[in-house]
Amino acid sequence: MMHTAEELLQLQPVVMKQLQMIFEKSRVGHAYIFEGGKGTGTEEVMLFFVQLLLCENPQNNVPCETCRSCQRIKSGNHPNFHQVYPEGQYIKVDAIEKLLNEMSKTGLEEGRKIYVIHNAEQLNVKSANKLLKFLEEPEGVVTAIFVTQNINAIIPTIRSRCQHIKFQEIQRNVMIKELVVEGITQSMAATVSMVTSDLEEALSLAKDDAFAQSRKTVLKLVEATFRNVHEAMLVVHEDWLPLFKEKEQIELALDLMLFAFRDIVAIKANAEAMCTYPDLLSTWKEAALHTTFDKLSSQLQAILNARKQLQSNMNKTLMMEQLMLNLQEGKAFV
Ligand SMILES: [Zn+2]
Repeated sequence: MMHTAEELLQLQPVVMKQLQMIFEKSRVGHAYIFEGGKGTGTEEVMLFFVQLLLCENPQNNVPCETCRSCQRIKSGNHPNFHQVYPEGQYIKVDAIEKLLNEMSKTGLEEGRKIYVIHNAEQLNVKSANKLLKFLEEPEGVVTAIFVTQNINAIIPTIRSRCQHIKFQEIQRNVMIKELVVEGITQSMAATVSMVTSDLEEALSLAKDDAFAQSRKTVLKLVEATFRNVHEAMLVVHEDWLPLFKEKEQIELALDLMLFAFRDIVAIKANAEAMCTYPDLLSTWKEAALHTTFDKLSSQLQAILNARKQLQSNMNKTLMMEQLMLNLQEGKAFV
């Protein structure tokens, strides 16, 4: 969904400027490692860079989008652009052989040839060795891009021959802005951006009815804990337990609850703080007035303890009842 150069510049300003500078100064290297976590835009930026390098009519270090080369990349059939993916656990030696074969074919378009190795940490020794000679002595003008989430997992002989392009984690405010552009409400965007730093995942969570229901139920419970333990217990039995059955669901729900109490801590420290639940700002402000940092700190600890108990397979009803008591007391009994 993020494809324009402007959007990519917002997402990865440092990397984008670095790549555009490389292009502008005609200092394009033989091999790069693009290292970035899930959702940091490595795929999108890689495609941008490939398109820029092959574009017939780039303007201000941005591909034109309309020339034959740009069109062919977008439709996935540029003869000078090849991509290799792992099959199962490894990038198989057959896949590398096929790539080298394609790359050495005569009758290709003039100019630069580019190949991309996805999940490059899955190159095994055999595949890497097969590739190494070509990496060192390519025929013609060739650029290799190795995409990975972890540069240290790439075989050293490959790693040492590449320039390292390091992607940054996406900033939360950038993500919220992107989600709002996609039609997500500010408050939902603020919440999902706490749950994941992967933009695609955040978007699908934000559109998921089940997630919206989880959010609502967690907030209902948090508000009940402000009143008294009986109301909290009631919400646990009537709303929480019927909704959250699987371990992963409960884990997420406890995280959402933790974020609510963190909001109150943040608001108590700074009324302008950025919240996970901006739609409950006035409720949080009210709660912040009637509590202490000590009590909040015990409440956060109580939620973290519940999360631990979940891992040790404690009875889920008992765990929640104990949590309600602990939240009320502001004491972190284990
Ligand atoms: Zn073009």
